[in-house]
Amino acid sequence: MLGPISVNKDRIEPKATAEATGKGLWTRCEKCGVILYIKHLKEHNHICFSCNFHLKMSSAERVDHMIDPGTWRSIDDLLSPMDPLEFTDLKPYTDRIKEAQDKTGMQDGLRAGTGLLHGIPVALGVMEFGYMGGSMGSVVGEKLTRLIEYATQEGLSLIIVSTSGGARMQEGIFSLMQMAKISGALHVHQNEANLLFISVLTSPTTGGVTASFGMLGDIIVAEPGAIIGFAGRRVIEQTLQEQLPADFQTAEYLLDKGLLDLVIPRSFLKGALFELMDFYKDAPYKKQGRIPFGVQHSTFLTTEEKVRRKWREWSSSGATASNNGKGATPSYKELVSSMKVLLGEENKVDIMDLMKDEAMFAEALAVAKTSKIEWLQQQSTLLGGKAPQDSYSFRTSEQPQIAVAK
Ligand SMILES: [Zn+2]
Repeated sequence: MLGPISVNKDRIEPKATAEATGKGLWTRCEKCGVILYIKHLKEHNHICFSCNFHLKMSSAERVDHMIDPGTWRSIDDLLSPMDPLEFTDLKPYTDRIKEAQDKTGMQDGLRAGTGLLHGIPVALGVMEFGYMGGSMGSVVGEKLTRLIEYATQEGLSLIIVSTSGGARMQEGIFSLMQMAKISGALHVHQNEANLLFISVLTSPTTGGVTASFGMLGDIIVAEPGAIIGFAGRRVIEQTLQEQLPADFQTAEYLLDKGLLDLVIPRSFLKGALFELMDFYKDAPYKKQGRIPFGVQHSTFLTTEEKVRRKWREWSSSGATASNNGKGATPSYKELVSSMKVLLGEENKVDIMDLMKDEAMFAEALAVAKTSKIEWLQQQSTLLGGKAPQDSYSFRTSEQPQIAVAK
């Protein structure tokens, strides 16, 4: 038992259910009851032609709607839920998972990834209502947290489109703790790295999602008529023994009470998000953010080993070369590009092409080595620890340790 999450090695494909194949040609508007032709409805972003009611949209359609064609890169597609409590209500939780996976073709109820929104790179998470009512289980929480941390590392603006019935009851406390976990990651993203998070609330957004990240956006927008609340209307009415207003828990009502910043019709949503981000980019008095140590890129053992070996190679070649020549101090850009070559992120370029001679090269490496150690010392001071210098420098021992990739 690995806990509430596993990684499924096989990508699942959606089964041919009536919903997936679009067997029915027609549907009915939930608000005005008009009969709508599904094909036209899809082309019109699921907005009723008669009354402008915003019908539900799948997460895949949302991604298509919001992200520029061909630029979507999904993250953590294969994370899958487990059944830590071995929970059974009317049927076992594992059966419910299987059904939802067959219906949606997704491992769990969240699509996460990066893409361009009118040319602006964003990290986007979209909840899927079709997957057990968009409930937030461990996988949804984990994927969101990873997405947020990725956005923080890469300095991306973050957008989360919520639609949810709340926490997933079948996972009990594992589901509830996601609220704190996601909020913690958002705290780093928003308050420490000073990056933007826009929360988009669609109908319905209730329960634990509203109580955590849904309402934590720097800007909170909603679609017209969306039902947004914590407890349901019926529960509140029974508890208070009072009649609630007719528009209670609608987006417009919450906007009026100051809980939302904007209500944006779906047809303008992408454009509005673009303008918000574009506007934010030029906002004055923005303080420079700082990414805390724990969220920094971690170097994998194999990468470390590569760096170590390369360093050894460099230093030994530096020792044999004539060290008298004084090359100009290499620019930051040169150092970065040499690192990229080393890590294989770019096409193989001979690293010596970047430098005039070997002496200059050795000096560049010395700068890189010193600044790396300084940076790590600074980080360890921040963490209050006393780290031995040697363990953080590129080791140059004769016998490089072989790291085992897990
Ligand atoms: Zn309608």
